[in-house]
Amino acid sequence: MKDSDTICAIATGMGQSAIGIIRISGEDAIEKADKIFHGKRKLSELQSFTASFGGIYDGDKKLDEVIALVMRGPHTYTTEDTVELDCHGGPLVMKRVTELLIREGIRPAEPGEFTKRAFLGGRIDMTEAEAVMDVISAENDMALASSLEQLSGSLREKTVSLRDRILHETAFIESAIDDPENYSLDGYSEKLDDIIEGLSKEIETLISTSDEGRIIREGIRTAIVGRPNVGKSSIMNMLTGTDRAIVTDIEGTTRDTLEEYINLGGITLKLIDTAGIRDTDDVVEKIGVDRAIESMEAADLIMLVLDSSESLTDNDRELISRLRDKRYIVLINKSDLAQKLDTAELGALQNVLYISAKSGQGLDEIRETIREMFFKNEIDFNNQLYITNARHKAALVRAAESLGRVRESIGAGVGEDFYTIDMMAAYESLGEIIGETLEDDLADKIFKDFCTGK
Ligand code: GDP
Repeated sequence: MKDSDTICAIATGMGQSAIGIIRISGEDAIEKADKIFHGKRKLSELQSFTASFGGIYDGDKKLDEVIALVMRGPHTYTTEDTVELDCHGGPLVMKRVTELLIREGIRPAEPGEFTKRAFLGGRIDMTEAEAVMDVISAENDMALASSLEQLSGSLREKTVSLRDRILHETAFIESAIDDPENYSLDGYSEKLDDIIEGLSKEIETLISTSDEGRIIREGIRTAIVGRPNVGKSSIMNMLTGTDRAIVTDIEGTTRDTLEEYINLGGITLKLIDTAGIRDTDDVVEKIGVDRAIESMEAADLIMLVLDSSESLTDNDRELISRLRDKRYIVLINKSDLAQKLDTAELGALQNVLYISAKSGQGLDEIRETIREMFFKNEIDFNNQLYITNARHKAALVRAAESLGRVRESIGAGVGEDFYTIDMMAAYESLGEIIGETLEDDLADKIFKDFCTGK
């Protein structure tokens, strides 16, 4: 299972920067690095976790001056011998050094291959590997805190504990079936039912955090809706103007969507269908409210925008009627103009805020209202584990279903040997979370989404 060939990659970004790090890992890492590095001492003579200053040479030609850091396995990130070259951070110089390493027979690493080796080497489990990537891609403080928590092994520990308890009972049943003289199953079914009920509750609690967990990790899926000209795009600009708008091109999604994020004082809003907002008015008119309604369905939060300087229209009323059972805020925009909107018509709508995208008035209220709606209970990673990853959630749901079937079997009074099948199925599903029972191609797929050099 363990790959042993030596790999290398540029581990830092490819812009101009003070330093750029090239990472080499594998059996021959130190020996191969020594071939191109000339310093006071050979890297092979250095103690682990020490560094040496020297030049990188292609024959007689000097490519760069670097600091080389030597780390010997198994106590390294990948568990293998590792050399890191701190080069000057220019794209060309790093490219030249990497080319030289490749000529020495070192293979360019696949995305996530260093972390994959850490996983295969048994240093980290899959939840920790995934957390590495989550730390890198964290867009707000909450996402960062939750990924660091997962990186420290909290989800692994919890999963291992659940699995251990399932395995313990399964082993007991099997021992009792094999050796009835020494192990009695008298009255065991009731005891098992209690244990499985307890385990199921723990799993259900984890599953129940996943909505909040997804919001922590990915942001609040937000639909800004309203008829043309009420000020949707102005509001978007007002929101993004406060902090950087992050625009990410997510490849491989069903259509090439451009996902836009707003960082609103530590809360990430993931905007849905901003194309619908940015499109010209006549396009919006043509598709009418249907598209708005579609994005409202998929949203965690709806921002309905109304125009304070005009009376409500049928379109407005249609959108208002769709707010029920949803988390929403109503933004009455253009409150800098004379008010024509009849507020009595808004009925019992909650979270109604008067704002002006033009003057920027109302921004703090928007932020505070969203915070209240989504994070009323302070997120506390010390006391609660949050499931932030859809893959983990799906595995937990499968485990809970299997345990549900165990309890059904107990209720139906079928023989104990029937229980173990579903107990082991739950054990396997939980094993997918930590990567123990994950199919190789699925594991590969997870690592493929990592960045190169990590
Ligand atoms: P959208 O079609 O809903 O995206 O609306 P826009 O953001 O394009 O705004 C439509 C028009 O309303 C533009 O001319 C804006 O300058 C104007 N507008 C937007 N917000 C305000 C506001 O708060 N006050 C005033 N007076 N005008 C606004």
